[in-house]
Amino acid sequence: MTVIELRAAGKSYPGGVHALRNVDLRVGRGELVAIVGPSGSGKSTLLNLIGTLDRPTSGTVRVAGHDVGALSDSRLSALRARHIGFVFQHFHLSPGRDAVDNVADGLLYAGVPLKERRSRARAALERVRLGHRLSHRPSELSGGEKQRVAIARALVGEPDLLLADEPTGALDTASGGIVMQLVHELHAMGTTICVITHDQEIAASLPRRIRFRDGAVVSDSGSDEAAS
Ligand code: ADP
Repeated sequence: MTVIELRAAGKSYPGGVHALRNVDLRVGRGELVAIVGPSGSGKSTLLNLIGTLDRPTSGTVRVAGHDVGALSDSRLSALRARHIGFVFQHFHLSPGRDAVDNVADGLLYAGVPLKERRSRARAALERVRLGHRLSHRPSELSGGEKQRVAIARALVGEPDLLLADEPTGALDTASGGIVMQLVHELHAMGTTICVITHDQEIAASLPRRIRFRDGAVVSDSGSDEAAS
């Protein structure tokens, strides 16, 4: 089954910046994909479209069967809450709140009552092996631990699709390795995952690599046969 489908998708910004041009792309359920390319090549723009944070200015983007360009903002928010988890390079955690409440926020728009949000957050933190850091605030956690909290927040809603923008970019090699190990575990459990990375070694370790340059796909190592 297709989770992500772009057909002749483009994204232009006022002033004539063509961040993405005529992109055709299909990602099947359960794939683990590396998005690579130089700075400014359109990777984050692509992730914003796939993540339904933005709409294409030409062509179509479909996520879980829904045409992103045709949905209202509230329908897009609902689609995001139900299907998509995000992980960012700089974690984006709330500084004043502990790990459980940061993760519980991942269910804020899913209509789950607070008590259940917190109990599911604790379970998600156990899953990323942070059961011993439940009441720690971000300032009391290492970079790698912060990213594991962010991963727990992304997966607490059991998304079909996990989108990660340079998830190891701010981490040392050992912490980055733990984060990528978690990514592989989630992939093994069936989650569809797209990871933007500058790290060649990480890209080489993923089953599929899509390379961008100047807003276009210049190479695609192809679908993981086993997953499609
Ligand atoms: P990457 O993630 O590969 O570094 P981006 O997707 O961030 O690339 O950017 C692609 C191009 O679009 C760049 O030329 C960038 O300057 C431009 N761009 C990105 N976002 C905006 C924006 N909000 N307004 C205008 N131009 C933008």
